[in-house]
Amino acid sequence: MFFSVRELELRKAGFDLTFPPGKLDLSETDFRQVSPARVTGVAELLRGTDEIRVRGHFCGELEADCDRCLEAARFPIDREFDLFYRPASGDSDAADLELDESESQVGYYEGEGLQLADVIREQVLLWLPMQWVCSEACKGICPVCGGNRNRVLCGCQEQRQDDRWSALRNFRPSTRE
Ligand SMILES: [Zn+2]
Ligand SMILES: [Zn+2]
Repeated sequence: MFFSVRELELRKAGFDLTFPPGKLDLSETDFRQVSPARVTGVAELLRGTDEIRVRGHFCGELEADCDRCLEAARFPIDREFDLFYRPASGDSDAADLELDESESQVGYYEGEGLQLADVIREQVLLWLPMQWVCSEACKGICPVCGGNRNRVLCGCQEQRQDDRWSALRNFRPSTRE
């Protein structure tokens, strides 16, 4: 869905869209979109300017492999957003100071307007956590036998013996590059 400045001059544009699984491009992250994501809201032009305001609600579920145990874990997102976009050509530096940064984020659009998918993708990237664990209590993977400690009680921890094979046992071929 594309919001053109010209059309927004005439009327605001409501939206209610569903992104099917995989539609959100998250390729530069470790996350995957595993279920439909719904986005509802409205885009409008701020009166007397060519600044576009997009606000609404995002609801969806992503998935990523836990940093500790490497098992896939769900990451639900259910959030409001309220974003402002100015034309990229405009004088940006001076204008930036006017807006209270704690209340809103200001972005820029090129040319005739704004693509909703780009807005949503950008926003979702900001919501993603830097670290991702399936649960705070996740025990991770045993560095000795490679077993998932959430599932197996391998008991390796106690045997910290210094034999020549330990280095070999610690070596696990990684499934992730
Ligand atoms: Zn985990
Ligand atoms: Zn173990």
